Amino acid sequence: MSVSILVVGGGVIGLCSARELRLAGYAVKVLDASAQMGTEASGAGGGILSLLYPWRQTVEVKALARRSQVIYPQLAKDLSMTTGISPQYFKSGMLITALQDSEEPLALAEDNAVKVTGSNLAYLEPGLVCATTGVYLPAIANIRNPVMMRALVKDCLRLGVELYPNARVTRTLNVASSYHVMLEDGRKFASEFMVIAAGAWSSNLLKQFGLEHQIIPIKGQMIAIRARPGVLRHIILHEGRYLIPRRDGVVLVGSTVEQTGFDKSTEPAVAEDLHDFARFVIPALGQYPVIAHWAGLRPSISGDTPLIEQIPNHPRVVVATGHYRSGLVCAPATAERVRSLYSEMLGHQGVGGAVQSGIMD
Ligand SMILES: Cc1cc2nc3c(=O)[nH]c(=O)nc-3n(C[C@H](O)[C@H](O)[C@H](O)COP(=O)(O)OP(=O)(O)OC[C@H]3O[C@@H](n4cnc5c(N)ncnc54)[C@H](O)[C@@H]3O)c2cc1C
Repeated sequence: MSVSILVVGGGVIGLCSARELRLAGYAVKVLDASAQMGTEASGAGGGILSLLYPWRQTVEVKALARRSQVIYPQLAKDLSMTTGISPQYFKSGMLITALQDSEEPLALAEDNAVKVTGSNLAYLEPGLVCATTGVYLPAIANIRNPVMMRALVKDCLRLGVELYPNARVTRTLNVASSYHVMLEDGRKFASEFMVIAAGAWSSNLLKQFGLEHQIIPIKGQMIAIRARPGVLRHIILHEGRYLIPRRDGVVLVGSTVEQTGFDKSTEPAVAEDLHDFARFVIPALGQYPVIAHWAGLRPSISGDTPLIEQIPNHPRVVVATGHYRSGLVCAPATAERVRSLYSEMLGHQGVGGAVQSGIMD
C-alpha cells in the first residue's frame, strides 16, 4: 500500500505539490475550504512568470523562480495534452520602465536583458508613451492562471488525487503516529503525513504545530480590459504596477498592495485608478472597456522568503507557504521541493509505482 499524504490548501502551491507527490507514487488527498479549488490568490493573480524586479528578491526566491521558469513550458504542454485545457503559456517578454539609474545595471544583469531606447522601444511596444527607455527581458512569459488552475484540478483528478472542496480544516491533533484533522462541518480525516499550503490562511494552522510564523494577507486588486490583440505586446512593469497581455487581446492591469485583513472587497475608484494607469502607459487602452475587477489575498511572510520545510518537532508535516507576490512563478519548483522533502524522509518505502504524467497508449 502506498504512503498517503494529506494536503491542506488547493491553491497553486497545494495542487502543484499534490500533483508532484502523486506522480512520485504517493496517495494524495487535498482538502480546500473553498467550493472551487484554485480560486483564491492563485486565481486572482496576474500570471507573470517572473519575479517583479528580480534583483530585489532573496537568493532563495530567485532560485525557485529560475527553476520554475525552466519547468513551465513543459508543464503547460503536459497539462494541455492531458486535460484538453491549455493554460495559455505566452512568452510575451517583459519591459521594465522608469528604473532608477542605480538599478539599471542590476536589471541588465538578468538573463538576456537588453536596454532599449527610442525607436527600438517604439518598435517593440508601439503604443507605449510613459517612457523613452526600458530594460527588455525577452524570455519572460505569462500564464492564464485561472485556466491553469482548472487544468491542475482536472489533471490531479485524472492522476487519482482525491480532491475535497468545501473542506475547511479547523483543528489538527497529533495522536501517536497520526494527524487527525477536523473540518468545520464535523468531518474528520487522518494521515501520517501532511502538507500545509493554505496561503494567506496558514498562520492558524501553523500555530497548532507550534510554529509562530505570521502569514499576513495582503490584498491586491486588478482589472481586465477587453482590448484587441497587439494593442499591448509585452508585460510592462512601470513604477511597481504592471500591464499583462493575454493572447486574445485582454489586458490585465494591477495591482494594489493593501493590508486590510481578510477583506477581499473591491472599490470602483481603484478600478478607475488602474484604468487611468493603463491609459497613462498605453493611451489606446483608454478606448476599451473594463470587463472585470477583482481582489485576492497574497500570503506575505516576514523576510520575503517562502517557508518550504518540515515543521520542527513534526517532521512528517511539511509547510509550503508565504509566496507573497511570486506564488505562481515559484509553484512548480516549490512542488519539487515538497516532493524531495518526502523522498528524503521516506526513501522509496511504501511508495506505489510512480504515475506517468502523459497519456498512455
Ligand atoms: C492581485 C494579485 C496578483 C498576483 N500576481 C502574480 C503574478 O503575476 N505572478 C506570481 O507569481 N504571483 C502573483 N501573485 C501571487 C500569487 O497569486 C500567490 O503567491 C499564490 O497564488 C499563492 O498560492 P497559495 O496556493 O499559497 O495560496 P492560495 O491560492 O490563496 O491557496 C490557498 C488555499 O488554501 C485554502 N484554505 C485556506 N484555509 C484553509 C483551511 N483552514 N482548510 C482548508 N483549506 C484552506 C484556500 O481556500 C485556498 O484555496 C498575485 C497575487 C494577487 C492577489
